[in-house]
Amino acid sequence: MRTILYIFITLTLLTINNYSQQNSCEIKKAYEYLESKGEVYFSFMVFDKARLNDISKIISIDNFSGETAFAYANKQEFEEFLKLDIPFTVLPHPGDAEFDVKMKSSPEEILEWDVYPTYDAYIAMMNQFAADFPNLCRIVNIGSTVQGRQMLFAVISDNVNTPEPEPKAMYTSSMHGDETTGYVLMLRLIHTLLNSYNSNTQITQLVNNAEIWINPLANPDGTYRTGNNTVNGAIRGNANNVDLNRNYPGTDYYGNPNLQPEIINFMNASGQYYWRLSANFHGGTEVVNYPWDCWARLAADDAWWVRVSRKFADTVHQYAPSNYMNEYVNGITNGYAWYYVHGSRQDYQIYYRHGRESTIEISDTKLLPPAQLPAHWEYLYRSLIGYLEQVQYGIKGQVTDSVTNLPLKAKISISGFDIDSSEVYSDSLFGMYYRMIIAGTYNLTFSAPGYYSKTIQNVSAVNDQATVLNVKLQPIINGISGINNQPQEFRLYQNYPNPFNPSTTINFEIPLSRGVSGEAGRGVFTSLKIYDVLGNEIAVLVNSKLTPGTYEYQWDATNYPSGVYFYKLTTGDFSAVNKMILIK
Ligand SMILES: [Zn+2]
Repeated sequence: MRTILYIFITLTLLTINNYSQQNSCEIKKAYEYLESKGEVYFSFMVFDKARLNDISKIISIDNFSGETAFAYANKQEFEEFLKLDIPFTVLPHPGDAEFDVKMKSSPEEILEWDVYPTYDAYIAMMNQFAADFPNLCRIVNIGSTVQGRQMLFAVISDNVNTPEPEPKAMYTSSMHGDETTGYVLMLRLIHTLLNSYNSNTQITQLVNNAEIWINPLANPDGTYRTGNNTVNGAIRGNANNVDLNRNYPGTDYYGNPNLQPEIINFMNASGQYYWRLSANFHGGTEVVNYPWDCWARLAADDAWWVRVSRKFADTVHQYAPSNYMNEYVNGITNGYAWYYVHGSRQDYQIYYRHGRESTIEISDTKLLPPAQLPAHWEYLYRSLIGYLEQVQYGIKGQVTDSVTNLPLKAKISISGFDIDSSEVYSDSLFGMYYRMIIAGTYNLTFSAPGYYSKTIQNVSAVNDQATVLNVKLQPIINGISGINNQPQEFRLYQNYPNPFNPSTTINFEIPLSRGVSGEAGRGVFTSLKIYDVLGNEIAVLVNSKLTPGTYEYQWDATNYPSGVYFYKLTTGDFSAVNKMILIK
């Protein structure tokens, strides 16, 4: 027994010693990168997907192929990883180019599209687009980065300075600062949309019918890590070495305590501008990654996602060499099926903003040699335009008040179909909603606080076409105060606004109990309580007997963190729970 124990201990020590020896050289190399760049790129073997998904909560998994994981980590993350005692190999950082990155600052040279612009040239170029095309383009700065660089969008539409009832589509690139292909391609896309307007029918139609938002560089601090005059030395993270595509409020669980300025800017902009369809461009592989990143279960719109992703990749295949975007499922993948990611922008945009976003990886090489940029444009530009066109399709229309004809912010849901926040909302300015969806027949329910809900049966959707369905909602019988004094049924309305910050309104109705007189007919015991995502009761808004009528309560969440909350109404035999989202 003792001998066996001795042998066991010796073997264990030997094994640890082997790992340590193997890793000590690698650890030294890793710390050199951590000192100079703030992040390290490395690979390791992992034989179990569940294990990989756990590790993905500690460090940034960048790719997973065969049984090899490729990952980035900042110092803190790397030290957590070391505790797992997994052998690893430090790799050359993808942002360190051994070729000439051909930095240019003059517009004529940049417009050859086979160079990288300096940061100042990029800013000048964006502003020049708006100056050259004042009716088609304006520039919106959604805020500053950690180091004070600008996060710019080119907004492109006909009558771009006038709000119009058009859906907003959005592209953003290079939130991983060392993935630079999309940066130049987005600039070229802006240039192409503007210069082809009125000469190319497809582009003219798109620009007339949608509002296109393009942010070529979502993480300028990462891309220009070594200074404004070169992209050589770019890093994945922002100036705080945080991976911005792991830093959004999670959907599988909340818990991103350290929201970065770049993320806060995007969340605010996303709430304000209400992008309906978007894509987030990356590099390091070639694939269209569709939702979810964090859930094994499929999105409600999975069939639509597969179709749109397939169309993107299939179009690329017609114009690219056969080895371009041909891996995974021939160029597309479900995000979770590839590997689990918590806190991605794609999941955030869908779950919290009711949008539709995919993550599109467009070059195996992260910092692409500039001479290869024109070829990648040639592979991709038709798909880039085609994807944007989808924002016009599906079921769409206007929701208005049947009495005043004023636009209404309403919820549009499809029972038996919508899950995980896939329902959409009309905007309050025009009352327009856009429900992109796979071809089929659907029952759409329109609801808004203070209005009778309306369900329209058997609405047909056709792929790549728009079904227009305008809907009028009838206000609930108006008293002098505009509230319903004689409700017919128990009802708990969706809170408004939602998402909200810091307070929101919750409406509910208690009907006169049929055939009940006396005390019982005059009041019913009612509670309205707020719960956090773990089910803890955190506030009580009502806990008393209420008479029939319509009630409105405010919940002020000033003292609570961002996240998902639930409110539960219990009144008599009736009970209902709704979800709400606080975003600070
Ligand atoms: Zn990336």
